[in-house]
Amino acid sequence: MKVTRLKTAVVEGNFDWTFVRIETDERITGLGECFFAPGLTSILRSLEPLLLGEDPRDIHRLFRKLRLATSGAGSVAGIVYNAISGIEAALWDILGQALGVPIYRLLGGKFRDKVRIYADCHGGESLESLDEILRSRAASWDSSADTHKAKDYFGDASDQKASAPEDYRRQALKKRALGFTTLKFDLDVPGTEGADPHNRVLTNGGIDHMVELIGAVYDAVGKDTDLAVDCHWRYNASDVIKVARELEQFRLLWLEDPVRPGNIAALKEVKARVRVPIATGENLFLFEGFEEIIAQHALSVVTPDLQKVGGLAVAQTIASFADMHTMPIAPHNISSPVGTLASAHFCAAIPNFLALEFHASDVPFWNDLVDGFPKPIIQNGFITIPDGPGLGVTLNEEVARRYARKGEPFFE
Ligand code: MG
Repeated sequence: MKVTRLKTAVVEGNFDWTFVRIETDERITGLGECFFAPGLTSILRSLEPLLLGEDPRDIHRLFRKLRLATSGAGSVAGIVYNAISGIEAALWDILGQALGVPIYRLLGGKFRDKVRIYADCHGGESLESLDEILRSRAASWDSSADTHKAKDYFGDASDQKASAPEDYRRQALKKRALGFTTLKFDLDVPGTEGADPHNRVLTNGGIDHMVELIGAVYDAVGKDTDLAVDCHWRYNASDVIKVARELEQFRLLWLEDPVRPGNIAALKEVKARVRVPIATGENLFLFEGFEEIIAQHALSVVTPDLQKVGGLAVAQTIASFADMHTMPIAPHNISSPVGTLASAHFCAAIPNFLALEFHASDVPFWNDLVDGFPKPIIQNGFITIPDGPGLGVTLNEEVARRYARKGEPFFE
């Protein structure tokens, strides 16, 4: 079997869902998804010549080939691995189809038939669509698009309306009613910011507001629901320690990205001084990105993003290492069903799985993007692992084309 083409398409969901399709001379095609990045499809097209004529079933060798070819340009990490992650997933899809077995089988078989999904509830309101540099945009499927005013995700939010405990409560009850047993909320929302948008310093008023928001959720669903919170690496260590200590009463499943990712000393400081499990990993690449923070126990919950970290095999190595250090894995995930199901195969195949993120409850066509799977894909807070060959689903191109990002090739 030989690779004959690599094609890309981008669908405008609440993020840019970037698909890579690898075609072969045996009428089998593989589908993978990449985490968004500026210039991503251009990177994917640049990598195509490295795959042409190759046997797509030699996954580890081709990963190494891509890695070496980009080692000067991307060196140790970076968005080139967003591209490689999607390619690697597509290769697993091809191998599974060629052998007539699902991806989880190729990864060593399953520990569980269905994986627990946690609902990302953002800041209690629905999340806007964000482009590849995290600026909000008017999504074609969003009815409020006409009045949309673009803003930067990490910009000054002091002019925005403060997030309300009632919104958090309502969102928690809504997700709980759908069957989700694990919810995650953002702490870095309007009304909690410090006096200076640049210095990572919080105020007592901001911290009190965070406690009110999460307290409203805990009062509503905390008895039978696991709660996690996300800081998006915005704060300094000593202030986020104050936050975590105030939130200890809510017995959180984890507190995510308290400080800059990859700063082991800061993470260790936070972890040592609070009684809340600390999670990080969505911004780290490859095994090397996780090796030291796991070995030094600078975190409690490991959150790699499978569409970014370097692929399913890389993630399995990270998971094995984390398991030796008794740490659970809760993959970050902002994907369409394509990336989500690839991640679900991985989650089924590792012992130390905790929960997989779902970030797209506000995107009305999320379920419609794939065929060959019972809908809704998430039922009662779980995804049942597909048993078909490879990924187990195919892309619905008609739906994908309807929401395709303008100016990007659509599998051309
Ligand atoms: Mg996060």
